[in-house]
Amino acid sequence: MKSVRRIPLSIPVLSAAEREHVLAALESGWVSSAGPDIKRFEEEIAALAGTRFAVATSSGTAAIHLALRIAGVAPGDAVVVPSLTFIGTVNPIGFCGAAPLLADVLPSDGTIDVAALERYLRDRVTRRDGVSRTPEGLRLRAVVPVHLYGAPARIEMLRSLCDEFGLALVEDAAEALGSRWGDRPLGSFGLAGCLSFNGNKIVTTGGGGMVVTDGPDVARRARYLSTQARDDPREYRHEEIGYNYRLTNLQAALGIGQLVGFAARLARKREIAARYRAGLAGAPLRFLEPEHPAAVTNHWLVAIVLDDATGRERLLADLDEAGIESRSFFVPVHRQRPYATAARIAEIRVADALYGAGLNLPSSPDLTDDDIEFVCAKVREALRRP
Ligand SMILES: *Cc1c(COP(=O)(O)O)cnc(C)c1O
Repeated sequence: MKSVRRIPLSIPVLSAAEREHVLAALESGWVSSAGPDIKRFEEEIAALAGTRFAVATSSGTAAIHLALRIAGVAPGDAVVVPSLTFIGTVNPIGFCGAAPLLADVLPSDGTIDVAALERYLRDRVTRRDGVSRTPEGLRLRAVVPVHLYGAPARIEMLRSLCDEFGLALVEDAAEALGSRWGDRPLGSFGLAGCLSFNGNKIVTTGGGGMVVTDGPDVARRARYLSTQARDDPREYRHEEIGYNYRLTNLQAALGIGQLVGFAARLARKREIAARYRAGLAGAPLRFLEPEHPAAVTNHWLVAIVLDDATGRERLLADLDEAGIESRSFFVPVHRQRPYATAARIAEIRVADALYGAGLNLPSSPDLTDDDIEFVCAKVREALRRP
């Protein structure tokens, strides 16, 4: 028998502030893709991301697509992405007609292996007239690091590599609002950063995203392309192909409400991670967490890696049986049918190993201390079972 009460993996925590802002938007009549809440939400997110501009989008995937198009990613190009990520990082490369070039990840935190990328760039990529080319002759246009489960990729090293090889740096910061490298929020290091406000993220608008950037031209183009590339406010003239990628005012109002409790939720996430760490001390597992001193994670989803991968499936099943929702890591991109034959910068081993031995534990901000203790007890119990 499954127990009745379920502890969810990650669900939004909604309060009076969300209700207030959404109702006010409703009453104002601004429900669609224009309105004062969009501008305000963009300004508040830009402040959190430490960027000059922010452009709201209908999803994080849309934000990545816009950023790649603005980076000039086109048919015949290649874009580097880590193989251990959500498919929404990768699909926009295909939307642009380009090909993903898959990289392995670090065992410590699951973010892109920048040293391996550097070796590839120095040994295999040729550079002529400012254009970097792969051995297959594709133009290497951009790198999309992913701040996995909130853990920062080695973003400063990446930025200098991208500068040296003329590559656009587009951060997939979908999971990383509130994470930092040193004092600097993620999303602000490259051409653009892409956020997601999907239902399970640390700030949600139901569904939505944001392109954050310091570049006025990047921001202007993101807005333009997200509005069907409309040139003028009166007539419907379009000089190029755009998208309907805007966020609605109603969604932005929900986002503004979510930001009211953001700092408290972020602090609670940190506590949750610390409690798991204490509760699982000595168990045959480790936490997937950044080890670089400058990397500050928002602990979006607590991630553990079992010492013995053969116990992973049973742990997932045992937790499910106990009413605890856990989830294996993202299936590596090269294990997904559409990308099974995608090019790789080198052999991919770590992403597979982490996938085989890892899982996320419940991390909703409204998780109680008792919930966490219960989960830890069940994890220990499952791992003790012969
Ligand atoms: C959530 C997420 C996205 C995409 O966001 P959507 O808003 O769901 O389109 C992209 N990359 C990563 C790593 C994500 O977690």
